[in-house]
Amino acid sequence: MKKLNATHDPLRRSWVESANQPACDFPIQNLPLGVFSLDGQKRAGVAIGDKIVDLQQVLNAKLLDGDAATAIRATEGGQLKGLMALGNEGASALRSQLSDLLRSDSPRLLRARELEHQILLPIDSVAMELPCEIGDYTDFLTSQHHTERHGRFKGLKDPLPPAFKSLPVAYHGRASSLRVSGTAVTRPNGQYKDAQGQLVFGPAPMLDFELELAAFVARGNTLSEPIPIRAVQDYIFGYCLLNDWSAKSIQWWEQVLGPFLGKSFISSISPWIVTSEALLPFRLPAPLRPVGDPAPLPYLQGDEDQREGGIDIELEAWMSTSTQRHEQRPPVRITQTHLQNLYWTFGQMLTHHASNGCNLRAGDLIGSGTISGPDDMTRACITELTNAGADPLPLGGNECRLALEDGDEIILKARATREGAVSIGFGECRGRIFPAKNWPV
Ligand code: MN
Repeated sequence: MKKLNATHDPLRRSWVESANQPACDFPIQNLPLGVFSLDGQKRAGVAIGDKIVDLQQVLNAKLLDGDAATAIRATEGGQLKGLMALGNEGASALRSQLSDLLRSDSPRLLRARELEHQILLPIDSVAMELPCEIGDYTDFLTSQHHTERHGRFKGLKDPLPPAFKSLPVAYHGRASSLRVSGTAVTRPNGQYKDAQGQLVFGPAPMLDFELELAAFVARGNTLSEPIPIRAVQDYIFGYCLLNDWSAKSIQWWEQVLGPFLGKSFISSISPWIVTSEALLPFRLPAPLRPVGDPAPLPYLQGDEDQREGGIDIELEAWMSTSTQRHEQRPPVRITQTHLQNLYWTFGQMLTHHASNGCNLRAGDLIGSGTISGPDDMTRACITELTNAGADPLPLGGNECRLALEDGDEIILKARATREGAVSIGFGECRGRIFPAKNWPV
C-alpha cells in the first residue's frame, strides 16, 4: 500500500476557512472527487469545506500542471471514468498539487485567492450527478451478522450459506438504476404474497434500506487475467455510500437465482468519492475471524491485505418521516455501525470477483453488502431492526415503523476517524420514498 505523504499532514490547514472546522466532512486531508452540473453542463469537482473546486477552471487558470493537469483533462465532459482509468497515480498527482494550492501556506496563495470566485463554487449552489457512467454494479453480502439474521428470519436450519466463510458471496446488480443521492425513490410495484398468503401484484409493502459502502474500480483487468491480492489496492479508486433499497416482499417471493426486481428499481449512492489515498491514515488489519473459522484459501490471503485491508469507518443511518418534518423535529439515528463488522475486505472482494478471469472495468461499482454488526444498534436495515416485522422500530413522538412508508427519508453518513489524523467524512446519501405509480391501464 502507498505511504502517507504531505497531503495527510494533520497540521495542514486550508485558506478555505470552512474546511478547518473539526466536524467538517471535507477538510484539506480529504479532497473527494465528484461530478456536478452547472448551466446544464456536467463538470468534475473536488469538495473542500462548503465549496467545490471546479477542476476545469483550475486547469484554465493554469494553477496546476504536469500529471495533475493530465488528470483533469481525463475528466473532460464531466465524468471521472477517464481519471479512474489512469490508475490511482492520476488521482494522486491531482491530490498532491491541489492540496498545495488549497493549503493556507500555499506558495500560490495570492494567485489562488485572486481567482477564488472563478475556481470555487458554494457546494449547495450546484446539483450533484453520478460520478461516471457505471458499466457494471456488483453487490456483495459480506456481513455474517446480516446474513445470519436473515437466515433465521427465513427459518433456515443453518442460517449461514455453506460458502459464506470460504468466499465473499455476491450477485450482479443493475447498473442502469443507480442514482445519485437526493433522487426520489418510487415505491416499486411487484409480485408478492400478502398477509393472508394470497399472491398479488401491486405496490410492495415491505420496503427497506440497506446501509453499505461501495468501491469504484480504478484501472480494470483484462478478460481472463485475474487480480492478485498483493496488487488489489491499485484497482480500488475510492469509496462512496450506497443505499441498496430493497423491496423485501418482492425479494422474498421471487428470489430463486438471486435478487432481481426486489432490488433493481433504484440504488442510491453518495456523490463524493473518497479516494483510496485519502483513506490511507485509517487503514486497519483485516477484520479478525472468529476462532475456529477456516483460513481463507491462499488466493484470498495477502500479507498486506491482512495487515491493512480493513478501514476505520463508522457508518450511520438516520431517518426522517413526514410527521417529523411537519412538526420540525430532526431526523432520528436508527443505525450506528462500523466497516470492521464485515467478514471480508474490499481487496478480497475484488480479487475473488476477478478470480475466474471476469474483467472489471474502470468505474464499476462494488457494494459491500449491508454492514450489520452483532449489537442491536449496528443492525443496518429495517428488517433486522424490527426482527423481520416482529418488533416495531420507535422513531420518537408516537411513531414507529415495521417497514419504510411513503414520505420516509433515509440519510446515510460515514466518517473515517483515527487518533493523530484529521477525521474525514463521506457527505450524505439521501433518499425519500414516494408512492408507487398507478399501474398503466
Ligand atoms: Mn445489499
